[in-house]
Amino acid sequence: MARKIGSRYTAHQILGRGSAGTVWLGEGPDGPVAIKLLREDLASDQELVGRFVQERTALLGLDHPHVVSVRDLVVDGNDLALVMDLVRGTDLRTRLDRERRMAPEAAVAIAADVADGLAAAHAAGVVHRDVKPENVLLDMQGPLGPGGSHPALLTDFGVAKLIDSPRRTRATKIIGTPDYLAPEIIEGLPPRAAVDIYALATVLYELLAGFTPFGGGHPGAVLRRHVTETVVPLPGIHEELWQLLVQCLAKAPASRLRASELAARLREQLPELAGMPPLDVDEPEPESDASPAEPEAPRDTERVRRGAVPLVPGRAAPDSNRDTHTSMRVPGPDELAGGARGTARAPRAAGAPRPGSARNRAAARRRRLTLSAVGVALAAAVGIGTWLATTGDNADAKPQGPGASAPAAP
Ligand code: ADP
Repeated sequence: MARKIGSRYTAHQILGRGSAGTVWLGEGPDGPVAIKLLREDLASDQELVGRFVQERTALLGLDHPHVVSVRDLVVDGNDLALVMDLVRGTDLRTRLDRERRMAPEAAVAIAADVADGLAAAHAAGVVHRDVKPENVLLDMQGPLGPGGSHPALLTDFGVAKLIDSPRRTRATKIIGTPDYLAPEIIEGLPPRAAVDIYALATVLYELLAGFTPFGGGHPGAVLRRHVTETVVPLPGIHEELWQLLVQCLAKAPASRLRASELAARLREQLPELAGMPPLDVDEPEPESDASPAEPEAPRDTERVRRGAVPLVPGRAAPDSNRDTHTSMRVPGPDELAGGARGTARAPRAAGAPRPGSARNRAAARRRRLTLSAVGVALAAAVGIGTWLATTGDNADAKPQGPGASAPAAP
């Protein structure tokens, strides 16, 4: 079922479906390509089409071995398409779903590749804004690297920004996947390069642990954890690697490493990580807010898959099989406050007490007394409101690192 896209490309078969549209295996004048055909409602949005054309140079300018290059933008009748390098392989989410946790060497090699790609983008003044396993493609035809990992390439550059225009954001209340959102975004600051570092550190933690550091439970609780909680150590993790993660998950954006430095520091650690098995950690179960007399919350409502926690379930885009930033609605303050349950989600080493135990319930109660969850969640809601108002006008987001003068989050 071949389909013409503009005058130069033909789409042959569907490779995958995402929240923004369908990705096709296609053919162009220079050989095989991947063609992302945007959803009809996006393609018919004149403002969005205008932004695509405006951003053409920035989008087409990124050429790096760890970035999926956009080769062309096609606006043709009702079609709006991004023509990309074809990556023959799978995305990192699919691999993670299959393996659950990766050996540290392979996880670090993948994160270093992504950091390299980010360094090139940040140097060109482009912030990705949506780093997550779904947007990392593994090139199965590329050479095997450390830990048997295939080269990793970051895809969807600039797409989040284009799609999240202020008007569209207000109309459909779009927001990023909460697990990877940097605290400064939640507090309403414009996304700069350091948000990508925070998201990448979250991805690396997830590759090592099998779950994200602040994910789980209600999206309001996820947002609150990003702003207020410190990351809980992973049992058995290599100390230097842990220090890197902590630094890149810092609440203050200026404390995080730059992408190029992160890539170099990760690669330095590869020899020491060689041959280490995946970490032996259990996914933390959410601490129940129920008193001992109350029944515990059903597990399946809490144990939603990390990395794709819908802010409010049930509003998936028509052609989407994944919950990402284009298929989510910002929760109202009441939803944020009502759902803020569970705080620190310490991973359990094998044999450690389960979080449902009396000991853990007592700890949860103590924490509830010391943390005004409702207040903080409302603050997060205000932050999101501010963010929504500013999203889209940050096309000029500049690279930023330890020396930059970004306002520090608390
Ligand atoms: P969205 O960002 O709209 O959610 P994705 O970019 O994640 O959509 O694409 C959906 C799927 O299409 C991915 O999971 C991947 O399998 C496939 N895909 C995306 N880009 C490419 C590419 N450049 N080469 C090969 N396959 C791709």
